Amino acid sequence: MTLHAVPPEGYRILREGDLRDYLAGIPAAAAQLGGPPDGWSINEVGDGNLNLVFIVKGASDGLAVKQALPYVRLVGESWPLPLSRSHYEYLALTHQARLAPGLVPAVLHHDEQLALVAMELLEPHIIMRKGLVAGTIYPAFVDHITIFMARTLFFSSDLALPAAQKKEAIAAFAGNHALCKITEDLIFTDPYRVAEQNRWTSPWLDAAAAQFRDDLDLHVAISRLKLKFLSHAQALLHGDLHTGSIMVTARETRVIDPEFAFYGPMGFDIGAVIANLLMAYLASAGHESEPGARSAFEAWLLETIEQVWSEFARKFLQLWRTEAKGDAYPVSLFPGEAGAARLERERQAYVARLFQDTIGFTAAKIIRRILGLAHNIDFELIEDTRLRATCEARSLRLARKMMVDAASFTTIGAVTQAARAAREWQPEF
Ligand code: ADP
Ligand code: MG
Repeated sequence: MTLHAVPPEGYRILREGDLRDYLAGIPAAAAQLGGPPDGWSINEVGDGNLNLVFIVKGASDGLAVKQALPYVRLVGESWPLPLSRSHYEYLALTHQARLAPGLVPAVLHHDEQLALVAMELLEPHIIMRKGLVAGTIYPAFVDHITIFMARTLFFSSDLALPAAQKKEAIAAFAGNHALCKITEDLIFTDPYRVAEQNRWTSPWLDAAAAQFRDDLDLHVAISRLKLKFLSHAQALLHGDLHTGSIMVTARETRVIDPEFAFYGPMGFDIGAVIANLLMAYLASAGHESEPGARSAFEAWLLETIEQVWSEFARKFLQLWRTEAKGDAYPVSLFPGEAGAARLERERQAYVARLFQDTIGFTAAKIIRRILGLAHNIDFELIEDTRLRATCEARSLRLARKMMVDAASFTTIGAVTQAARAAREWQPEF
């Protein structure tokens, strides 16, 4: 199989009419939709940055159809991007469906040539970020997201897989390097240097952006994280696990959009979740109708941040104790009671190192949303730019401390405490 960087023979960008004919020719899709194809409604929703997404509804059910474009949708044809990302998204979705059943949309059909995936229509689910901006509490989220992360990360690691299988799995995703490069540039490099695509809430954050470009302690810290992202093939990552890649109802959680999937450091996925919850918390002051109006929501967010880490760690450790079939830590090296006790201490030490990684990646994910190319609606929907900049400056202050002084955060409680302090801080501008 060849994965093309330029559109292959047979690739064409689908319009609504083409998609109708195409789906009518796919028995599984036609059956899922039901009724005559003429009666199907097709709408391109496309609030994403990269691809086309069509919502298709028939007489009995619906489908979401995602097609990759040979370029970045947000920017246009001047920024080419390989269609093969659809192949990796399909691989990741089916892999995650096996490891974390019910937590990703079910895939119905994949067309390699058209770079297209047809999947379960999530309805009435909404993008979690939108719910958080509105101040909505999601009581089931912690359990679901920690199952998703613990299981997808553990079962793709050397703790669970024999070495040969793990190396084959790395190879299966190694071609997704164009998507990795986006992360390497936009998260780990550009926010810390002059780059054309950077933007921030000007003029309020001009001084902060300049400081971040001059801060060599920060440049060392982000470079260490970048090296870890480049070199540490620890587990199969989702690769873009922010609250815009999670769809929710009060009871259900689905993780979508794993086109950035590759083998990398686990803390990158966990940090993405925590970073986006921290930003929802620090943006919340910009969305309240009066002071204190969202205090129950904010308290829930802080509790959720603590539980995302603690529940992840608990579930991950439990999998390690019961499902460790990989080549790492051979049990024959840890015999008897003393061996078992030593191995348990080592598991705790591993998780403590993972926590340090998570702190750093959390900080990196916050900074890129404030000083880099891609911003988020948590902040962007705060119309008063001075208030928006205040929320962003608080987030930058917290993130800088987490990045250069990660070791001072030994518990997740220290993170939420620092977040509370950041929320009370008044920047001078
Ligand atoms: P991109 O990779 O271009 O960012 P996404 O996979 O994030 O695309 O999808 C873009 C949007 O399409 C999502 O924000 C969501 O609103 C909608 N969407 C994607 N997948 C589904 C689905 N399975 N069911 C319902 N809506 C979906
Ligand atoms: Mg995407």
